[in-house]
Amino acid sequence: MTMSEAQAYPIDQEDLDLLKTSMQRLQCATSLLDGFHRGLFGFLHSPKRTISVNFPVEMDDGSVQVFQGFRVVHNRVLGPGKGGVRYHPDLTVEEVQFLAAEMTWKCALVNIPFGGAKGGVVCDPKVLSEDELRRITRRYITELGDNIGPNSDIPAPDMYTNAQTMAWIYDTYEVMHPRRNNRPVVTGKPIELGGSFGRLEATARGALFATQRFLEQTTLCGFQDLAGVRVAVQGFGNVGAIAAQLFDEAGATIIAVSDSQGGIYDERGLDIEAVLAYKRTHHTVVGVPETMSITNDDLLALDCDILIPAAQSNQIHKGNAACVKAKLVVEAANGPTTPAADEILFKNGVYLLPDILVNAGGVVVSYYEWVQNFENEQWELEVVNRKLQHKINKAVDRVVDRWGELSAEKQHEPSNEEVGDTGPCMPVDLRTAALVSSIEHLVKVTLSRGIWP
Ligand code: NAD
Repeated sequence: MTMSEAQAYPIDQEDLDLLKTSMQRLQCATSLLDGFHRGLFGFLHSPKRTISVNFPVEMDDGSVQVFQGFRVVHNRVLGPGKGGVRYHPDLTVEEVQFLAAEMTWKCALVNIPFGGAKGGVVCDPKVLSEDELRRITRRYITELGDNIGPNSDIPAPDMYTNAQTMAWIYDTYEVMHPRRNNRPVVTGKPIELGGSFGRLEATARGALFATQRFLEQTTLCGFQDLAGVRVAVQGFGNVGAIAAQLFDEAGATIIAVSDSQGGIYDERGLDIEAVLAYKRTHHTVVGVPETMSITNDDLLALDCDILIPAAQSNQIHKGNAACVKAKLVVEAANGPTTPAADEILFKNGVYLLPDILVNAGGVVVSYYEWVQNFENEQWELEVVNRKLQHKINKAVDRVVDRWGELSAEKQHEPSNEEVGDTGPCMPVDLRTAALVSSIEHLVKVTLSRGIWP
């Protein structure tokens, strides 16, 4: 199928509701678990708590605008809620609930003592001044009050929030709770405020480590390291831009990158430092000299070895999945691939490393930052990166092993047609294996704690 044929297939024929996606994937994963307590399904699927707040903020021109914010704790079986804060004009509570659940699976998969949470404010950071963003952040955190805290729910950066946002969150919480060590209330802070070395790059570095480990451990993609491997990256923010840099340093050739305004392509490989410098002054990658302008749809369909979606959810869907020519999709973003796209990629022999594994590096180093804050310590960058690599490697090995076991079991089962089941269950891919590993861990801990009372 060509790109133009794909665009003729309307995306709205597919249900892109993220909560339905989450439910469907959870159903498939739990159906593969021996002796799964069906009664736990609702507990795993539903968020523990959803908070919605509305608050007024005075704008630079003296007018007053009301903003809506959310904070969702999905599950706290393993420890306090942990998850980023997103600022986006299209943010919905359903998206935040989906992202909070993803955090639960992620923390369980990499075995850190956190539950899943997520938050955000419906706003457009591109049209807000620094002062307005500061006032929105302070008011949002004040409204959340004691629903966040170092031992209950710990925010971090996500789309369109950064270390500065985390500094305001810390400072606001500190004003509300004086005379105690409040540093562990938020991670992703500036280094001078108790941030961890390596946190800024951690999500992208985790994606690099996960990819390298997967390639070393399997021979599936036809290449076992990144030397000369052609990579396309969608999204050029914290995760995408740093991933482009790190994959480039590891020997890959970055042939295309994009942001919300469009993409650029050079088959000989982009000069990533030049692209970063251009983005700093022009606020987009589009227009870097001696590159070809492409659309985001073109980027996803490029002839390349690795495709890294590092922007929004639902980017690879039923309408364009058949155009993906990469041998491996590395999901640095949260939820970039829909269930229908998963099936198409699987049938076409495209391997996919799932988000809960690939982008877990961010929360792993957030956990290290939290530990350092309690200890009033600051670890060297090498220590942080070494620990991160160890955690990610172990998680990749667990997923690959579980994938092998589940695929072998599946081969001995009657097919869906034989048992007359036309349900939506997906093939046993790496995503399913990762989710099964997470759920197994969560269920074990839930049952060993015992159902209260
Ligand atoms: P960011 O705000 O720093 O960057 C987002 C980038 O995506 C920007 O370059 C933006 O222009 C681009 N973009 C937005 N819409 C796009 C579109 N439709 N097509 C192409 N590009 C588009 O955000 P980030 O922190 O880099 O997060 C990116 C993804 O990674 C999100 O899905 C986020 O949930 C996930 N993630 C981030 C972290 C983290 O530590 N920041 C951790 C885990 C997962």
